[in-house]
Amino acid sequence: NGVLMSTLSRPSRMMLLVNPQSGQGQALTLYNNHIQRMLNEAGVTHTLVITERQNHARELVKEADLSQWDALVIMSGDGLLFEVINGLLERPDWAEAVRTPLGILPGGSGNALAASVHHYSGASLVSTEELLVSCGFLLCQGLVAHMDLVSIQLSSGPRLFSFLSMAWGFVADVDIESEKYRHVGAARFTVGTLVRLASLRVYKGKLAYLPASEDDHSEDEGSGNNMARHCNGQASSVAPSGDSPRQNTFHNSCHSNNSHKVRRTESTCKALGGPPDSLLPPLDQPLPSDWVVVTEEDFVLMLAMYQSHLAEDLLAAPHATSDDGVIHLFYVRAGISRAALLKLFLAMEKGAHLATNCQHLVHAKVRALRLEPHSPKGIITVDGEVVDYGPVQAEVHRGLARLITG
Ligand code: ADP
Ligand code: MG
Repeated sequence: NGVLMSTLSRPSRMMLLVNPQSGQGQALTLYNNHIQRMLNEAGVTHTLVITERQNHARELVKEADLSQWDALVIMSGDGLLFEVINGLLERPDWAEAVRTPLGILPGGSGNALAASVHHYSGASLVSTEELLVSCGFLLCQGLVAHMDLVSIQLSSGPRLFSFLSMAWGFVADVDIESEKYRHVGAARFTVGTLVRLASLRVYKGKLAYLPASEDDHSEDEGSGNNMARHCNGQASSVAPSGDSPRQNTFHNSCHSNNSHKVRRTESTCKALGGPPDSLLPPLDQPLPSDWVVVTEEDFVLMLAMYQSHLAEDLLAAPHATSDDGVIHLFYVRAGISRAALLKLFLAMEKGAHLATNCQHLVHAKVRALRLEPHSPKGIITVDGEVVDYGPVQAEVHRGLARLITG
């Protein structure tokens, strides 16, 4: 039985990064009360690292001797994983480093990846506490899947790598404004949405995208809880075929293929690390003719998703899997009423927003996109974190990272 096999071949050395300030400030308590015992009983050896400040995890991961660790696990919100992923890609050995299996335990107020992992396992919606226990079990099972990363180019600064979402307009504003309601936990987005609805506005800009070809997403039609494709090509079994059974789950199946070093090309790659972007011209250059330019320039929101959940209770991209190689682009055109927008967000709780037949909502599966906001000020978020406002473009790198999905 596949589950049993993977339980036997779990990792031996895990770095568990806990952010004591995330969410309602309870991550450490949650670790002590639930996770420590669960991992110990499952025989998962782990070293607890308590983050002390912003960017602590990023610096730590940038300098760490990764040969010491079979997995890096984050117990916080999505923000801490964003740091870890970007720390890995800033390393000179990023091509190896980014293959380190990453795990997530919900400890923050924005636990979208944890909710996505839970969803990919086929389980249904649960409360925050149940989500933690579920993710703890999945972690103990230790199945590793590929995870798409999206490189984000801004007009200033180096590239960023994103695992979850990019947002502009309504969703980005709610995400940031709702930081002040973090004491209510995951409900902060609901509160934020209601507050923002009262001051609904239009965001002007130019949006263009490169559509995904049909075979990019052949797997993701149909039911909303497809299993992610696992590294060894089998979702249900990690039975070792080689000679090192104990490490099969975390290393052999994932680190063996494709371990070439990618050469840097100066014209397309401003950042130190990460694969070059092959689909994006420089941000100030015109787009190729196979891109689709959205004719409207008045929006209520733009949301690019590459995992299923935008928040614990927002199933924004029901068909997304962790490695479909697709950016699920949503935008809502201006002209939508407050009532219709609220209806969309309520339907999103179960992933039913696309079925509401809202004429203002558009969904496209894309491989790259470019957004040029017209207004000089505003908010753009990447994985829920604010980035410099201005023109931005993005390209998906299929299965670049590794994610423990159970
Ligand atoms: P939440 O979902 O609650 O926002 P995050 O994981 O997104 O949780 O964490 C928010 C931010 O907290 C991250 O950007 C991280 O850099 C920062 N952080 C990590 N450790 C600490 C700490 N000890 N004190 C303050 N901030 C921290
Ligand atoms: Mg956060």
